[in-house]
Amino acid sequence: MTCYTSVFDLFSVGIGPSSSHTVGPMRAAKLFGTTLIEDNLLTGVDRISVQLCGSLGATGIGHGTPQAVLAGLVGEDPETVNPSLPNELAAQIESEGTINLMDKHRIRMNPADIELLPHRILIRHTNAVVFNAFSAAGELLLSRTYYSTGGGFVEEEGAPATVSVDAELPYPYQYASDLLEISEREGLSIAEIAFANECALRPPEAVNAGLDRIWAAMRESIANGLDTRGTLPGILKARRRAAAIAEQLRSVQGERETSLEWLQAYAIAVNEENAAGGRVVTAPTNGAAGIIPAVMFYFNEFLAEAMDEVKTEAVRRYLLTATAIGSLYKGNASISGAEAGCQGEVGSASSMAAGALCEILGGTPAQVENAAEIAMEHNLGLTCDPVAGLVQLPCIERNAIAAGKAVASARMALYGDGKHMVSLDTVIETMRQTGRDMSTKYKETSEGGLAVNVIEC
Ligand code: SF4
Repeated sequence: MTCYTSVFDLFSVGIGPSSSHTVGPMRAAKLFGTTLIEDNLLTGVDRISVQLCGSLGATGIGHGTPQAVLAGLVGEDPETVNPSLPNELAAQIESEGTINLMDKHRIRMNPADIELLPHRILIRHTNAVVFNAFSAAGELLLSRTYYSTGGGFVEEEGAPATVSVDAELPYPYQYASDLLEISEREGLSIAEIAFANECALRPPEAVNAGLDRIWAAMRESIANGLDTRGTLPGILKARRRAAAIAEQLRSVQGERETSLEWLQAYAIAVNEENAAGGRVVTAPTNGAAGIIPAVMFYFNEFLAEAMDEVKTEAVRRYLLTATAIGSLYKGNASISGAEAGCQGEVGSASSMAAGALCEILGGTPAQVENAAEIAMEHNLGLTCDPVAGLVQLPCIERNAIAAGKAVASARMALYGDGKHMVSLDTVIETMRQTGRDMSTKYKETSEGGLAVNVIEC
């Protein structure tokens, strides 16, 4: 039994604003289209109806879910789709009433064919999407239900949950205590354990090349965010701030210490890119996409040795350690805001970044575990209450603050010897229970918290 999830599943390149509400539904729609092709049904389809259930129905408009579904139905992937295409398709069904299903067969499609059903809650997961394909005579050709379980992961009704990799690993583990035991027994760091597991799935060169690609995409999202001004999409008309913050920080360069303010600017930059529907890396979700890149970039800019090869190695170890920790959250609790509240998204990312930073600052495995634990301990109970269903308020600033918590947690752990009262396993289980007990108002439905107390315009 292992909870290990590959770095390439946990960190996937996609478009914003949400891994569960944009990336996952797009993948589900493409899976449905692929099944139509495999079952030789595609050319008989005249119309498709889509039901966005539970949280997908509650905040789907603000998260761009209908547009994402359209992109998936025309055969696009989140990794490569032109970020402007989903909105263009939404305009197309308004004006023309058609889409080109899987880029092969034109069908009728109107805005009314995508229904928002916030009160239809399916048992397996609140983020459910149901597709029905009909012939011109109205005959139901194919019906499928998929669940978007957070971080862009999709599960089909009737198929087992995908909580881990499906391969023989050299170092399987279920809990943080197992991870520490393997580390002690084998004399390996957390990053080395994750690397060995990844090498069971693909050659070492491919692992390293893939890690470098993830980091390049993260860096690009920071650079784009720091470079772009204007207003974010949606009813809030929120101004982008990262570029202005960066400009102010450059103007005081050399006059005072600004590294932690830059850390915040990096996180805000990524999350503004995400909120604008730009390309980001799910880390482990889109709503929390700024924390892990920001902490790594902060290390590179302010803490690392100057040599590029040192930085490259540190990046790889950082992402691998974050993966080992993130797997614990995905396997034993949840990384989905709709399931566990924001503690599952931002809390998990903060914990992953804290442990990973501790590792590249020279922490022992016990200190890494301690850093990850501290960060989650102080994100417990965090609710998900995005105003107007947009991944903007409180999400963007929340990433900046959680990045700071990650750095503080890593530093605090490094002052200790790794021995501490609350274990990472305990805090993960506490997060799971807290998420289970949390009212649905606070789980990505925009029915509670800031979402009902902030005036939207
Ligand atoms: S409040 Fe947190 S969990 Fe909810 S959408 Fe924003 S970042 Fe995601």
